[in-house]
Amino acid sequence: MSKQYRKETICIQSGWKPKNGEPRVLPIYQSTTFKYESSEQMGRLFDLEEDGYFYTRLQNPTNDCVAAKICELEGGVAAMLTSSGQAATYYAVFNICEAGDHVVMSATVYGGTFNLLTCTMKKMGIECTVVDPDAPAEEIAKAFRPNTKCVFAETIANPALVVLDIEKFAKLAHDHQVPLIVDNTFATPINCNPFKWGADIVTHSTTKYMDGHAMSVGGCIVDSGNFDWTAYPDKFPGLCTPDESYHGITYTEKFGKAAYITKATSQLMRDLGSIQSPQNAFLLNVGLETLPLRMERHCYNAQRVAEFLEAHEKVAWVNYPGLKSNRYYELAQKYMPNGTCGVISFGLKGGREAASRMMDQLKLAAIVTHVADARTSVLHPASHTHRQMNDEQLKEAGVAPDLIRLSVGIEHVDDIIADLEQALSGIE
Ligand code: PLP
Repeated sequence: MSKQYRKETICIQSGWKPKNGEPRVLPIYQSTTFKYESSEQMGRLFDLEEDGYFYTRLQNPTNDCVAAKICELEGGVAAMLTSSGQAATYYAVFNICEAGDHVVMSATVYGGTFNLLTCTMKKMGIECTVVDPDAPAEEIAKAFRPNTKCVFAETIANPALVVLDIEKFAKLAHDHQVPLIVDNTFATPINCNPFKWGADIVTHSTTKYMDGHAMSVGGCIVDSGNFDWTAYPDKFPGLCTPDESYHGITYTEKFGKAAYITKATSQLMRDLGSIQSPQNAFLLNVGLETLPLRMERHCYNAQRVAEFLEAHEKVAWVNYPGLKSNRYYELAQKYMPNGTCGVISFGLKGGREAASRMMDQLKLAAIVTHVADARTSVLHPASHTHRQMNDEQLKEAGVAPDLIRLSVGIEHVDDIIADLEQALSGIE
């Protein structure tokens, strides 16, 4: 779709473009396979000599339409859907790293990402150095090694709500000849386009705001096409030298700016198989249609709730980048002037124990292991999502033991505030 359309229009109109007499709504291609009339043509598809579908583990038309929509929203050149946000993170890194390589990662990333990079991928021979995202560039630069292959960070960290200085991280990555991968889940492309600020690859847990209704787990990887892999062929042999597992194709030679996503699809998806189901891609597409409307309301509601909490006598602290008192307010204004996200973290004067009691008294907000959907929800990361981390790691990740993560939904804001008010009144 033409670049002149605004994001609201892209969300509705992009991706599926029906021809005369075809369904107006994106169909679910609920088929594992696709029929051809000549075995020669099927052969050309396998050789990547011709475009076309042959097996849904590699590509499916429903998924591709949705990936194309997200790609356009992010301003990228190619995108792919994955079965989960975790799979997106894994593929995004593993596509350019192998045993013996090294990654630099922000300490405040989502707990699952932290575990994947520092534990599971370590077992695969990929080392990870964790850096404080707020440290001066000279300090972070010390983490790079000759075998560093990428930098990974989140636009808005879950749940620490640290706003990334994307330009600082992009410069650091590029000065060390590697791409910056940014997980843009919390901001969504409605509130931030990391490519504009120098990021090279964006990942998403589409499970969150994009789906928006807590219906389906999914992920997405988008490539800006801006990182020149061929400038550093020794660093990125997987992209710049023949792939013996794929008839000796050299991805950068054959696919140019689409090299990174083509490799991730034809190699990683082929071998690891974390494809998103077409049914889930369909639901994701429905979610994307209302993403701009919902993000606006999530941000409006969260701002009001954050202001209410900040003024409440039983609340010890509130962390929301939309508050003027917040240490990331200026960065948020720079990178996300229209709003950040609907997630707030806060602590109570009564500490960890009061947090549990307060959460148990909420009637509208539910305790769920989820954020970023239409319903207001609440979680205590130190006891739930981040329970695998020790106190030191929690501190580095910006997760205080008393931190309550509140994901403000799109119910009427007065009802959300009334629920918090009654729950707070029930504690000392
Ligand atoms: N990235 C971020 C910022 C997340 O919050 C999450 C999940 O909470 C993930 C990645 C992982 O996504 P998924 O749960 O879809 O695998």
